[in-house]
Amino acid sequence: MKILVANLGSTSFKYKLYELADLLGHATSTGERMLAKGGVERIGSDSSKAFVEANGLREEMVIEAPDHAAAVNLCLAQLADPKRGCLENSSELAAIGFKAVMARGISGVRKVTDQLLRAMEDCNEIAPAHNPPYVAAMRLLSQKLPEIPLVAAFETGFHQTIPDSRKIYAIPLAWSESYCVKRWGFHGASHRYIGQRTAEILNRPDLKVISCHLGGSSSLCAISGGQSIANSLGMSPQSGIPHNNRVGDFDPFALPVIMRGTGKTLEQVLADLATRSGLFGISGHNDLRDIETAAANGESRAILALEIFIEAVRHYLGSYLVALGGADAIVFTGGIGENSVLMREAICANLAFFGISVDPKANIAAKGEASFHAPESKVQLWTMPTNEELMVARQTRDLLLAN
Ligand code: ADP
Repeated sequence: MKILVANLGSTSFKYKLYELADLLGHATSTGERMLAKGGVERIGSDSSKAFVEANGLREEMVIEAPDHAAAVNLCLAQLADPKRGCLENSSELAAIGFKAVMARGISGVRKVTDQLLRAMEDCNEIAPAHNPPYVAAMRLLSQKLPEIPLVAAFETGFHQTIPDSRKIYAIPLAWSESYCVKRWGFHGASHRYIGQRTAEILNRPDLKVISCHLGGSSSLCAISGGQSIANSLGMSPQSGIPHNNRVGDFDPFALPVIMRGTGKTLEQVLADLATRSGLFGISGHNDLRDIETAAANGESRAILALEIFIEAVRHYLGSYLVALGGADAIVFTGGIGENSVLMREAICANLAFFGISVDPKANIAAKGEASFHAPESKVQLWTMPTNEELMVARQTRDLLLAN
């Protein structure tokens, strides 16, 4: 079965085309292939730019793509071009899958319908960077390409197994249901992949894994036997560990104090918390590489930002070791998790009591899928590139096969 997984921005469309075995619930890499990847940038401008990579060849071209539907059509034509041979024709495509963030009252994997798009729109305020461009493009595609099934795999879906004791905020209970105010959890596709891939590598389905997705946005997830039982992201993707420019966990009673102090409106303060806070708010730098360099040069704000980040990750790590009753593996993914030797070392420091010990040389050498625990460590430590698109492809396939 061939499935295109789409990643949408307001003026961009990127995709990966997968061929998957027609097996419901198949969760290992056997029988799976990525046939091509590509996309279009600057959709709507006079000179949109497209690229396509297939059979080891990359091509770039300037095209006319007035909207997302035109961009998708063009990409399908490129994939069906006999010189690439990725698709017999566009009708060979079983579906387009989307990594959608959240919808009011809906989660898991769903066919895209008007009702679903309206439910996503209801969450625009909670996920302002993600939901609006997805809804706009998905609506257009469902109108202009009605022959291709569209499937949304929600980020919140993997976290549906989190028990209410970790999902419900201590607010008047009716608010939880009436206004969907709960810890929904996000980064579901990434944590799902880390859970499945770790089980595949260690050849054990019953693993206790703590997945540390540390990047521009960061979260930890406790995974037991492939199921999420806790995630550090709450009702919105602005919560949990401080992100590159988003606040992370925060006391709502600080809001009126900040509004009075700055003279800003609630909307302005919320925008500051979502775009000018996190590691950037503390250090003045947006990128962890710059923060590490500034810290090495003695910038106190950068040193503090790193300390706060490490402390927040360790806070959730400790919580999840307790929630799981220990762990078999702690896995680091995302731009920071995969690349920052310093952060991995600091996050895992002095945890021998919990059976966690780093091999410093292996940590420095770790690239791609690699372990870096010391021989005496009871808990395995890994770096692992995530593959969110593959999860969306597998989920899309499962939805089609189940119906
Ligand atoms: P996103 O969450 O936006 O998908 P990524 O997972 O790509 O982002 O992670 C981006 C972050 O990874 C940036 O803050 C960047 O500083 C950090 N990063 C990338 N490479 C390194 C590195 N070599 N050392 C430290 N941090 C890195």
